[in-house]
Amino acid sequence: MRVGVYAGSFDPITKGHVDIIKRAAKLTDNLIVGILNNGSKKYWFSLEERRIMVEKIIGGIDNIEIKTFEGLLVDFMQENDAQIIVRGLRAVSDYEYELQLALGNSMLSEGELETIFLPASRENLYLSSSLVREIAINKGKVDKFVNKEIIEDIENKVLHMKKR
Ligand code: ADP
Repeated sequence: MRVGVYAGSFDPITKGHVDIIKRAAKLTDNLIVGILNNGSKKYWFSLEERRIMVEKIIGGIDNIEIKTFEGLLVDFMQENDAQIIVRGLRAVSDYEYELQLALGNSMLSEGELETIFLPASRENLYLSSSLVREIAINKGKVDKFVNKEIIEDIENKVLHMKKR
């Protein structure tokens, strides 16, 4: 069994993430989408909200499982008997950070884990969760960047923030 993990914050999940997930699921027997909760990071959406949004879009696809985790990716990989780390690569600016992660994970796992990079599709090259948040907070339309299933969740989050 070739088990892959695609991990990230998904704050919120974008069309760029969805594209990588669907393509990676074709390369692995099982793909786990791992939603990371990093205690020292501030998110827009709670872990549970992020999980529900991912579920709305890709729940129900046969060989894809959605899980949440904290701590090191190498430990999450081991708990799930997974060998392949999937990452998406956008512009050159991603490269240095991603290379550092890949080498770090390879060293921590003593060479047991392999990272594969999928290039972002052309239409998603400059798309990021932070861009989506920036557009949303300024009342712009995010429908080109995120799936329709979660647009209301994003709008509600903005409304709720403004009230505070
Ligand atoms: P992180 O906090 O780990 O960067 P993200 O949710 O932002 O989490 O990203 C997770 C992975 O998805 C990373 O490998 C990132 O490079 C990739 N990714 C993010 N946006 C896109 C996109 N538009 N197209 C392809 N890959 C992407």
